[in-house]
Amino acid sequence: MAAPPRRRPGCGDWSEPAGPGRRLRDVAGRIREDDIAEVREKARIDDVVSAYVSLRNAGGGSLKGLCPFHDEKSPSFNVNPSRGFFHCFGCQEGGDVISFVMKHDGLSFNEAVESLADKYGVQLRREESPDGRPEPARPRGPARSRLIEANKLAQEFYAGQLSTPEALVARQFLGERGFDHDSAETFGIGFAPRDGEALLQHLRQKQFSEEEVVAAGLVAVGRSAYDRFRGRLLWPIREASGDTIGFGARRIFDDDRNDAKYLNTPETSLYKKSQVLYGIDLARKDIARSSQAVVVEGYTDVMACHLAGVTTAVATCGTAFGDDHARVLRRFMLDHEEFRGEVIFTFDGDAAGQKAAIRAFEGDQNFVSQTYVAVEPTGLDPCDLRLQQGDAAVRELVARRVPLYRFVLANVVGKYDLDRADGRVDALREAARLVSSIRDRSKVDAFAREIAGMIGIDVEEARAEVRRSVSRGRSDARSRPGPPAAPNTDAAAPTGPPKQQLPDLRDPRFTLERETLKVLLQHPAQVGRMVAEVGPNDFRHPTYRAVWELIVAAGGPSSAGPDWSARLRDSAPDAGVASAISALAVEALPTQKEPDEGYVAAHVVRLQELTVLRRIAGLKSRLQRTKPVENPTD
Ligand SMILES: [Zn+2]
Repeated sequence: MAAPPRRRPGCGDWSEPAGPGRRLRDVAGRIREDDIAEVREKARIDDVVSAYVSLRNAGGGSLKGLCPFHDEKSPSFNVNPSRGFFHCFGCQEGGDVISFVMKHDGLSFNEAVESLADKYGVQLRREESPDGRPEPARPRGPARSRLIEANKLAQEFYAGQLSTPEALVARQFLGERGFDHDSAETFGIGFAPRDGEALLQHLRQKQFSEEEVVAAGLVAVGRSAYDRFRGRLLWPIREASGDTIGFGARRIFDDDRNDAKYLNTPETSLYKKSQVLYGIDLARKDIARSSQAVVVEGYTDVMACHLAGVTTAVATCGTAFGDDHARVLRRFMLDHEEFRGEVIFTFDGDAAGQKAAIRAFEGDQNFVSQTYVAVEPTGLDPCDLRLQQGDAAVRELVARRVPLYRFVLANVVGKYDLDRADGRVDALREAARLVSSIRDRSKVDAFAREIAGMIGIDVEEARAEVRRSVSRGRSDARSRPGPPAAPNTDAAAPTGPPKQQLPDLRDPRFTLERETLKVLLQHPAQVGRMVAEVGPNDFRHPTYRAVWELIVAAGGPSSAGPDWSARLRDSAPDAGVASAISALAVEALPTQKEPDEGYVAAHVVRLQELTVLRRIAGLKSRLQRTKPVENPTD
């Protein structure tokens, strides 16, 4: 790879466009431009994005997956590793690796650069500020990288404490559940001393402020500051990338003054319990490979599954599995054109488990037909199952999964005495009501058949009852006061950059402009001086014209460096143009081979030809209008 371009401020260097360019940046801090370029080069966008989204080959050097910025069922989120760019053709989000991290983690430009530099080993240097003062105080609390670092140090500290004499009970707890020293190490398990300030002191020595350790969720403040976790066994909760962002803490001492069996890190800017999945860092690759995820109920169950060879196991942390968790899993599970993975829940057969299953049924219905339940008849959870019957029993439990709907229907039907006619009627009515709530009408018939088999009635009878239940549901919905059901929930989905009142960029009238700019962005070296004759008037779409003007302002394609597209995007005057640039940088060219001079020339010549034709048409029309007319008004 070529060396990163040097920036010489004030020398008319192409990398420093004048004008509104810096608008998209936050200028505080001033990380050196060549360090930013190094971050862009080392932090490969496919690598960074893969921590959150499974990507598969989309041809033409592009990868695609389900967009993390809007909810979708088939992938329109494209990543082009060789250009270092992503673009979602669904919501129009796009940009380079730094903009991805900014958007995904809600960071400022500098924070995103810092976080990537940290992860990819780039030493950042800062320009001295003119007045020699340190950076201005951060208005939004401690930097994310500091919170990550604090959690990392805490994890190491706690892991070290696990071998102290005080942690005997913690080691016994693990040993009794079949976890040896090695597995404790694999999962990074630790022990929080009972003392109450041990971690606080440790992090103070490492130059962390009270504000930082509190924001990291590690320390709480009452009359004074104290460790949030005291005398507990700790599981570090990690992001898909492997960074520790919080802890789950189990009560192990009888005299623990907090009765809660489990405590978790509170909501912080890192730790969002509605999205966090314990074990995702270990499971994500196998989840992507097998399109299967196993959702268990606790930390020890995740451990037991992984150690038994079920390497796709995850668990929610202190909360029920919800729609946000479902979305996180779906992004990792992307299989073919659409989501076809399997999510397997292990429930114990008791009432709580059945309730949980019905809740899952009522949640994100995109999921229902891919949702399975693995129920251990003896009621053992995976951890106890492994302990009592060995690794193979855990693998079998998962292999014996049944579709969720069958499990739920069987439970509903099982409540009634099917030997009695009135029992069958009641069972049919309740099962039909459940089936009628399924939004995917194509599934309903199969479910009706299933009900008929379970109750022992005619399929037609079951179908008729489901139809009756559907129409009852409709009239209920009509008579019920309250907001009307939104027919299209997509309309409420978060939108990308604001819509402009401009012609569609994909309007065929602008195809040539689009294709020409794509070559300019993706293969600047091949274009060279061939565009010398092109001018802004060759671009009729205002957005394309703006992109062209940015290219000229940046010194033209012959001065492109490795982060050409990124620099152009940074200098974009508004979000619409920035989004267009990422789309142009990512979209595949309509040619199999690398574009050569002929390809470029054909575009440039045709573009100019059109401009000339337009000029002729304009002149003709003017001529017509200035021609003496038959019936002058004056
Ligand atoms: Zn999107």
